Parts: sequence; C-alpha cells; structure tokens
Amino acid sequence: MIGRILPADGVEFEFTVPVVVIGGGAAGMIAALAAHERDADVLVLERDALPQGSTALSAGLIPAPGTRWQRDAGIEDSPERFAADIIAKAKGEPDPAAVARVAQAVGPTLEWLADRYGLPFSVVDNFSYPGHSARRMHGLPSRSGTELIDRLRGAVEAAGIDVLCEAHVTALYADGALVRGVEITRPDGSVERVGCGALILACNGYGGNKALVERHVPELAEALYFGHPGNQGDALLWGEALAATTRHLSGHQGHGSVAHPAGILVTWATITEGGVQVNAEGRRFSNEAQGYSEQAALVLRQPDGIAWTVFDERIAGIARQFEDFRQAEAMGAVLSADSPAELARQMKIDADALAATLDDIDRLKAESGTDGFGRDFTGSAPLVPPYRAVRVTGALFHTQGGLVVDDDARVLDGDGAPLPNLYAAGGAACGVSGSKASGYLSGNGLLTAVALGRIAGSAAARAVKEESNR
Ligand SMILES: Cc1cc2nc3c(=O)[nH]c(=O)nc-3n(C[C@H](O)[C@H](O)[C@H](O)COP(=O)(O)OP(=O)(O)OC[C@H]3O[C@@H](n4cnc5c(N)ncnc54)[C@H](O)[C@@H]3O)c2cc1C
Repeated sequence: MIGRILPADGVEFEFTVPVVVIGGGAAGMIAALAAHERDADVLVLERDALPQGSTALSAGLIPAPGTRWQRDAGIEDSPERFAADIIAKAKGEPDPAAVARVAQAVGPTLEWLADRYGLPFSVVDNFSYPGHSARRMHGLPSRSGTELIDRLRGAVEAAGIDVLCEAHVTALYADGALVRGVEITRPDGSVERVGCGALILACNGYGGNKALVERHVPELAEALYFGHPGNQGDALLWGEALAATTRHLSGHQGHGSVAHPAGILVTWATITEGGVQVNAEGRRFSNEAQGYSEQAALVLRQPDGIAWTVFDERIAGIARQFEDFRQAEAMGAVLSADSPAELARQMKIDADALAATLDDIDRLKAESGTDGFGRDFTGSAPLVPPYRAVRVTGALFHTQGGLVVDDDARVLDGDGAPLPNLYAAGGAACGVSGSKASGYLSGNGLLTAVALGRIAGSAAARAVKEESNR
C-alpha cells in the first residue's frame, strides 16, 4: 500500500539524519549535493539497486537561459524570456511565481554543477525545440540521461554523501503535519525506521501507477508508459494525506515519437528540422510542430495507435548526436530508401498516398505555406533522398502535476502555508506545464528536477541548522 502515514508517537528510529531525500534521480542527487554543501548530513534513499530513475531514461537535456555556454555561442536569452515561453506554451496556466523561480534558478544551477562537480555541459545550438524562442537546451557530451545520472551519482559519492539503495520508503511517520521519519522496506521484507529533521520528496510523479494515470490522465490510460516504473505516486499520496495542496494533476509529458516496437525515443529534431508524421494510410493527421507532448494522444488516435515519422538523411545527421537515435539506427528501426515508392514499400503502406503527402510537403516548403492543420513550413528545407522513416507510437513519459511548493520548495497546505519540514522537487512537485499535455514545453521535466532540487536541498539544510541553533 502506498501513501501511508503512520503516527510517529512512540516510534524508535534506528538513527536520525538531519536531511533525508527520497529518490535518487536528478532532483534527489542535486538536492543532496546542495544540502551537503550547506554542511547538513544527508541521506538519499532509493528503492532501486542503482539510482537511475526517469532521469536515466531521458535525453538529459535541460533548458537554461543566460548561461555562459549560450553566451559563447552568441545566443541571447534571459530568465524573463524563458519564463514567457513557458507561460505561452501552457496558455497562461502556471503560476508566474513558480515559473520565475525555476527559470531564474536553472542557469546558475547548471554552471554550479559544471564548476563545482565537473559536469561538462554544452548548449544544443544546431536545432530548436517547439516553443523555445532561443536555443537553450543544455546537455552532456552523449546527450543522454544515463550520463547525467551517472555523473550526478559520481559527484554525490565523491562528496561522501550516503546513498542507501534497495531502500523502498513505504511510509512516513508524522506528528500532525510534522514528518519525524520514514519506514524503509528492504527487498527481503525487513523494515527499518530512519528519523529526519527535514524530508525532501524527490520520488517523481505517478506515471508508473496505472490507477492514478486512469484517474488523472485518462486519455493516456492505455498508452505505453515510458518512464521509470518505480515512480508510483508516493509523493502525491503522502502529500494528500498530509493535507498538502496539489495542482494540475492532469498535466503530463507525452511523446508522439517512440520507435515501436523498438521502444526507443526518436528525437523531435526529426520534426522540427522539417520531417512529418503520417499514419498507416500515408496521410498526415496533425500540426506536428506544435510539440511532441500533445502529439502522443494524436498518434494513439491513428489506426493501431501507430504513425511513421518521415524525414531525410540531412535530418538523420542532426539526430545522430543523440545516443537514442544511434541505437534506433543500430537496431534497424530507421528505414532508408532512395524514393518515396521504395520507402512506402518498406513501410508496407500505400505508395501513391505517401508520394502525394511528400509532394504536398515539397510544395508547401517551396511556397513557404501553411497547411490545413496550421503548420507553417516557412524556412523549412525540402526533404531529399535518401528518405528515412521510423514506425512510432505515442507514450506517457511522466506526470507534471503534483505538490505545490513555495520559493524554498517547501510543500504548501490548503491555506498556502508551508508544512513544517516537507520539501518537494522534480516530478514530485507541481510542474510548470499547466493541466494539459500541450502545456509541456520541452525540458520542463528536468527543469524542475534541477532547479527545485538545488533550492530544496539548500533550504532544507538551512532550516535544520536554524532548528538546531534554537
Ligand atoms: C524517455 C524520456 C525522455 C525524457 N527526456 C527528457 C529531456 O530530455 N529533458 C527533460 O527535461 N525531461 C525529460 N524527461 C522527463 C525527465 O526524465 C523527468 O522529468 C526527470 O528525470 C524527473 O526527475 P526526478 O528526479 O524528479 O525523478 P526520477 O529521475 O524518476 O527519480 C525518482 C527516483 O525516486 C525513486 N523512488 C520512487 N519512489 C520511491 C520510494 N517510495 N522510495 C525510494 N525511492 C523511490 C525511483 O526509483 C527513482 O529513482 C524524459 C522522460 C522520459 C521518460
């Protein structure tokens, strides 16, 4: 049973740590580094044998404005401009203060991770993501989330921070809203109790919990869940049981381009650089350029829930900077053909329909036209042989709703007052995407993991120090 809160009265904890972090993804690792830097003893509790989380499954791309990497590349940007992009994508739904908080914190956090812990970020300056008015995605050399979590874990270990793995937190002990400690269940079923001064929830959202997805994101109830299966909604349920405020629980990140059946993310650069999606009838069905998140449900509405992402070798060259794409190619998931007819044959779809669709795209690009779905092809290079195509489906990547936090990442109650010692970061906290898939601006996931992770770690450490000085 998840979301359990037990009375702390009379419980004897095996030991007590000032700052306990639940979850060893990007949010948890960054929170731990930040708390440790403020001289707090920290313990990270992770249910898996190796901390990875959805962070390891991601492309590891983090949007950040005004960084030195952008300046070196001659890219003009600012937190205000980034905040405006976030709010525009989510049609004004997110709280402007929450958006400003993360938009301002994320750039300095990436520079801190680079300077202090040697994470070699660079800016992705050769293609743009939908809705970003500046090129501001930052990643590590392999452009993979595995590298991100591996480097964060390395930094945490080098700092001497304790990470307890195979430590599934199965309940919180509380006196009213004050969290006194946690119950850990080990793989052999044994139970341990650890006390805490402050607790940081960094155990992501509820994408892995079918019942919660059915309740909050019914349109993707039957979709493939592509995130980490351990993210079962503990933070949400504990928060609700402690009378915390939650918001935008239907918000989520979908993705309309997961190679199927290979099960590998195909970067959306395939679309933003001029590719399109067709269904099994060879016809386009949407304005793909709006964003990959909302595209998930649109792809799932096509026959058999399948679409084809069609592009060309020039675009494949850009996509190859991503480990995922290279893997998809190695697995034979990316078809290649010198003519639309040959491509259609390999795709096993109607050749005339595909040829007509590609002719239409050529015409729109030549005329700088806008199609019936509203996609503007101005400035988009024509697709030329050899063509490429990947069979894809729509998937749920992670949920974006969650616990509402303040400027210190403290979880708020129904009156807007902070709970005494509970913090949330990353997917455990309410994101900045509003209540719809279309509100997700690329990178909003790691944005709140990275920015709120650091804020929560620093604030929790500060609070426990103040408490001990009383
Ligand atoms: C395929 C894919 C690609 C993505 N690409 C991007 C991208 O390029 N950019 C971007 O910004 N976002 C991306 N995202 C979203 C991004 O991965 C997440 O938003 C981000 O990793 C969340 O970080 P987190 O630390 O909150 O959670 P996680 O990284 O999921 O970490 C949570 C951890 O908590 C642990 N845990 C859960 N419950 C418990 C418990 N009760 N006890 C102990 N441990 C527990 C889990 O095992 C997990 O290790 C992508 C997501 C997917 C699935």
